[in-house]
Amino acid sequence: MDLKLLDALLDRAGEPPFRARQVWRWMAGGAASYAEMTDLPAPLRERLAEELPLSSLDLEREARARDGTQKALFRTADGKAVEAVLMRYRDARRSLCLSSQSGCPLTCTFCATGRMRFARNLTASEILDQALHFRRAEPVDHAVFMGMGEPMLNLDAVLEACQRLPSIGIAHRRTAISTVGWLPGIERLATEGPPVRVALSLHAADEALRSELMPVNDRYPLADVLAACRRWSERRRMAVFVEYLMLDGVNDRYEQALALARVLQPREAFKVNLIPYNPTDSGFEGSTRAAIDAFRAALEERGLRATVRLTRGREIDAACGQLAARVA
Ligand code: SAH
Repeated sequence: MDLKLLDALLDRAGEPPFRARQVWRWMAGGAASYAEMTDLPAPLRERLAEELPLSSLDLEREARARDGTQKALFRTADGKAVEAVLMRYRDARRSLCLSSQSGCPLTCTFCATGRMRFARNLTASEILDQALHFRRAEPVDHAVFMGMGEPMLNLDAVLEACQRLPSIGIAHRRTAISTVGWLPGIERLATEGPPVRVALSLHAADEALRSELMPVNDRYPLADVLAACRRWSERRRMAVFVEYLMLDGVNDRYEQALALARVLQPREAFKVNLIPYNPTDSGFEGSTRAAIDAFRAALEERGLRATVRLTRGREIDAACGQLAARVA
């Protein structure tokens, strides 16, 4: 729901300010219509139903994979594509993957979103409406900003959305903002905003290789980014999640694992998540399972915490940017 339009409508209707909070509580609890909001006066419910769409996003398509992963493609009121994913895990965790922008202005060479046209930043309401879409179907408890876009380039709206996620059931410590390493954003999160987690898309410990994969590394070199991550970790007393995409023959050799372990110091400040690559038409291939296991073992030998991400929703193109890129 467009929360700014809600405020304006309530104001025009001469309603007291607490009405907005009432409506939000219903939305956050998964209400699918104004009719359910029984503590609002009936005439107000009718007016809302006529004048304010329940979501700022229209659902264009939805796909569900055999493993329960569900991916939704939405359009904003001005026709921009937005995608979000719900991952269901056996331990009952329900994790949302949210988009912060339609498209992405950065140009990481392995990423499908990076190759589509950047449209614009999403509003806080458009971010929350992705979460509410899934919340209407079932409770959710984790969120990661790993959908389309670079959240640090739209940090005000992302933080505004994060403030409201706990009322949907997602605590701040179960919310992670994933970044290419946009330095000013990491610095801001150390001192400002709710205590959500930071995930760094690292992908290569070597500066030259990282710049090839992620041109943003020329602007904010990894060494500086890691220094900011250490400061964030000290201030917030949490480990930074490190995402490391496993690309066959590119960044998956034993020496590269050792180099990664060397830069991730102190090791308590970081937690590595190795990501099997979801193939796109970028020309990259994912590493073999054996290479991923060996890489993980090398990190663990050096005392780092490392896990391998479960691959979810592969047959529905659930990787970053894939569905939207296809229909765009
Ligand atoms: N811009 C932010 C958040 C969006 S991308 C960031 O880069 O962190 C979320 C994660 O998905 C990133 O770690 C990105 O590198 C990864 N990713 C991109 N394309 C992928 C693919 N095809 N398979 C697996 N992960 C991918």
